[in-house]
Amino acid sequence: MMEKKGLVQYIKAEATRLGFDLCGIAKAGAVSEESAGYCKEWVKQGKNGTMQYLERNFDKRCNPTLLVEGCKSIIVVAMNYFPTNEIEGISHYAQGTDYHKAVKDRLFMLLESINGKIPCHGRAFCDSAPVLERYWAVQAGLGWIGRNHQLIIPNKGSYFFLGELLVDIELEYDTPFTANHCGNCNKCIEKCPTSALRREGFDARKCLSYLTIEHRGELPEDIGEKMGNCFYGCDRCQTECPHNRFATPNCTPELLPKPELLQMTKKRWHSLTKEEYDILFKKSAVERCGYEQLMRNIYKVKGEK
Ligand code: SF4
Ligand code: SF4
Repeated sequence: MMEKKGLVQYIKAEATRLGFDLCGIAKAGAVSEESAGYCKEWVKQGKNGTMQYLERNFDKRCNPTLLVEGCKSIIVVAMNYFPTNEIEGISHYAQGTDYHKAVKDRLFMLLESINGKIPCHGRAFCDSAPVLERYWAVQAGLGWIGRNHQLIIPNKGSYFFLGELLVDIELEYDTPFTANHCGNCNKCIEKCPTSALRREGFDARKCLSYLTIEHRGELPEDIGEKMGNCFYGCDRCQTECPHNRFATPNCTPELLPKPELLQMTKKRWHSLTKEEYDILFKKSAVERCGYEQLMRNIYKVKGEK
């Protein structure tokens, strides 16, 4: 059987081979009292809006060892999603195939690779379970949580999907990231068009990502001008972040946009049919929004509703 150090080197090399940009490992356990308290208070104040799934499984969210029997380690991976060609209107992360699958498929392959060296039971997650992803990315030494509430990776930025493999084997652990390089910067807060982001915290109910994707029903009356050209999500608190000057386009095949998407124009978005929507967004994260809701957003941007 491989010794721990060699196994960790092997896991990280496999993560790179599979297409992840970064991999770190944290010792599994309960999250800090401070983080648990913040989450509890945030939900209590209703800042999660209608995302009721954030109210469920609080025990698991605060202690991921409850998700996998005998869980000892959390392998955290990051995958760059910064796009090659920007599609106006759609948030960077949603331009290719649904990222949940792209990340989880690779995590399952990583689990298989580990099992080739040592018997190991585990589960893979990517924004799909009650796991405090950014907290664990910090614990695994990947970066810090910026004022924009995103994980910022030094010299790489914040355009990264995070994924976790919870496993029942002990490994050598990375040193948690303790620095915070936001310094005196306040750009993300200043540029947030809805004041969802403030020094005191984040209110999802005001966030354009929440409003355009999660929120059903009518949008607030005054939201049109705040949306700018974005009808699916919003990237402003990331585009303004000076650490994203390091962002480089991803080269993951599944994350590349369909050619048809690149040909869309403002006029064509406005007259998008359900059939066209189905073709453009099959197996895309945008499916979460649904055709009617996407059109609601598009009309709002155009100021015609
Ligand atoms: S995504 Fe947009 S609306 Fe939401 S916090 Fe960031 S800048 Fe503000
Ligand atoms: S914009 Fe400035 S304050 Fe906001 S996350 Fe980036 S570095 Fe931190």
